[in-house]
This record gives sequence, C-alpha cells and structure tokens, in this order.
Amino acid sequence: METRLIACGCPGCRKSATYKLAARWSDGRFSELKTYALSCLDHFGLLYREALLHRAAYPPAPGELLGEVGIYRCGKGTSSEPVTQLRVLEERFKLLDRSKPSRSRVRCG
Ligand SMILES: [Zn+2]
Repeated sequence: METRLIACGCPGCRKSATYKLAARWSDGRFSELKTYALSCLDHFGLLYREALLHRAAYPPAPGELLGEVGIYRCGKGTSSEPVTQLRVLEERFKLLDRSKPSRSRVRCG
C-alpha cells in the first residue's frame, strides 16, 4: 500500500492534514468513524465548526446513532492507526462557537 500525503480540506490550503474532524456512526451492527473533514494545524477550528453545522444539517436516520463531532489526530499515512480524540480543543471551539454564532463560510487566509 502506498502512503499518500493527506491534504487539508480547506479550499486553497496546500498543507498536509494533521487533524480529522469526525463522529462515531453506528447502525447497531456496524460502526465506523464518519469523517467530515481533514485539516491542517491552521484550519481545524474553521473546519470543526463546518463539521458541526454539517452534522446538524444531516441528522442520523432512525435506528442510526451519530456521536458528537470530535477532533482526532490523523495517523501518519495509515488509516488503521488508532486516533486520539482531543477533548481540550473540542471544548475550546465549542465555547467559541457559542460566543460567536456565525454561520459564515469557511475562509482561508
Ligand atoms: Zn489548511
């Protein structure tokens, strides 16, 4: 298997992704990590907010379970590598989200 560099999902950004914005999905028999976006160090805050909006816009179907959107560390080229959920960063961006309820689009500097 080749190892490819995973690019940041922010339009125009050419950095490699460090974080994965994802939520645990399950239909009761099968469960997986549903990935909303991959992000570099600079843009995970923006993409995290986009992921929260996306999750709210597409709720799980009846019988499905969809967990909270979490910030995970991208594995180094291996998708089988366990991911670490970064609770502190999540909380920080949830607080930011509450204090600034902006629905503006992601903009990359
Ligand atoms: Zn980026």
